[in-house]
Amino acid sequence: MSKLKYERPIINKINAGVPDKFGMKTSIETLNSIDTIPVKNLIAEYGSPVFAVSETTIRNTYEEATSAFTSRYPKVQFAWSYKTNYLDAVCRIYHKLGSWAEVVSMFEYEKALKNGVPGSQIIFNGPDKSESDLETAISNSSLIHIDHFDELYSILKIAETSKKQPKVAIRVNMDTGIYPQWDRFGFNYENGEAMQALNRLMYSEKVDVVGLHTHIGTYITTPNAYSVAVGKLAELASSLKKKFNHAIKYIDTGGGFASKNTLKGAYLPGKDTCPTFDAYAEAITSALMSADFSKEDLPMLIIESGRAMVDEAGFLLGSVIANKRLADGRRSTILDIGINNLFTSFWYEHEVLPVGATTQQTEDTTLYGPLCMNIDVVRQAIQFPLLEKGDHVAIRRIGAYNMTQWMQFITFRPNVVLIDADKNTHIIRKAENNATFELQEVVPEYLK
Ligand SMILES: *Cc1c(COP(=O)(O)O)cnc(C)c1O
Repeated sequence: MSKLKYERPIINKINAGVPDKFGMKTSIETLNSIDTIPVKNLIAEYGSPVFAVSETTIRNTYEEATSAFTSRYPKVQFAWSYKTNYLDAVCRIYHKLGSWAEVVSMFEYEKALKNGVPGSQIIFNGPDKSESDLETAISNSSLIHIDHFDELYSILKIAETSKKQPKVAIRVNMDTGIYPQWDRFGFNYENGEAMQALNRLMYSEKVDVVGLHTHIGTYITTPNAYSVAVGKLAELASSLKKKFNHAIKYIDTGGGFASKNTLKGAYLPGKDTCPTFDAYAEAITSALMSADFSKEDLPMLIIESGRAMVDEAGFLLGSVIANKRLADGRRSTILDIGINNLFTSFWYEHEVLPVGATTQQTEDTTLYGPLCMNIDVVRQAIQFPLLEKGDHVAIRRIGAYNMTQWMQFITFRPNVVLIDADKNTHIIRKAENNATFELQEVVPEYLK
């Protein structure tokens, strides 16, 4: 028997598609309807592209998240992170479900008031609060989470003459094992700055220190980081108790829970690596209950989750404009959905699905948006069926940060449609048109 001929092994780069836990995909998933409403009907009625928000998904996710916490801890309060999605209709769904508001600007603060949230249920975060913003928040008994010493001294100054005692917490940043560490917001724990801020507030006797806050980052896939964070906040609470005999009313662990989207460069899809709400709740509540709070002083737990609450409820629906071959022979498909409406495509490999029946044949495809700009790439490489001009596509998990960070660039922002729990559809933000811009722009007399 002759010896087999040696063949050099070859490594072939997979350009498109990542394996899930069962290996590479074998069938093509489609997305034909949202809450039983056919995608093609939504596009026919509201235009292409169009954003759709599922109230049912919001409610189901909310129920899943809140029950993970309330089943483990007696005092839990969720606060809706406005910047994640501040369309009024979306915020009102969260408020109806019992969420407070978490805001980071006066724009968002006023939105929350208009959405009917009592001042005392608005948490005012962020580094940018003017003296007049602080005065408003103090007079409404809102919870002010102090970001830096300049803000702290402004509050103490306002407190001297204000009728109401400000209700404050400090935001604390710390090493939780997540790098790079988010140390630009709040007061550092390890170098003693956080305790120093608390000392200033306590000795002033002008403010009511009601809580401690942290927001350790976003898309945190290690629940243990939250145990570390809670442990450090509990240490600060314990120092306040020992030194000033002062019990704080709440610990706010911020947001940061991951959604099921896949980060660029991730080896496994997000839906396989995203921790459950139960896993986060277990880490946070166990750390709270093992801290040395007496039973009477057990603080309320505030959760400001944004991304993980709403990502799944948002869809971006659109159509194929054209197909093209690139110079190297690769297939490319131009969609009417661009990065102007899909800000999160900068860091996610979004799941783009064909709508309706397709062939089982796929090709390594680049998905471009409609903008005349080289950066307008929705997916650099995806195994995609051969759609034709006019066919529809749906992008899922886009409920977080797209309807706030979208850009008005080259073209208008489209309609946003809510599918309510009874499967009725409502426009919740009207598509822009030239009149939208005429309202804002002013042409000086001499140019007319
Ligand atoms: C953005 C933000 C949140 C929400 O963050 P997610 O990562 O979307 O959960 C919560 N709290 C603060 C202070 C924030 O800035």
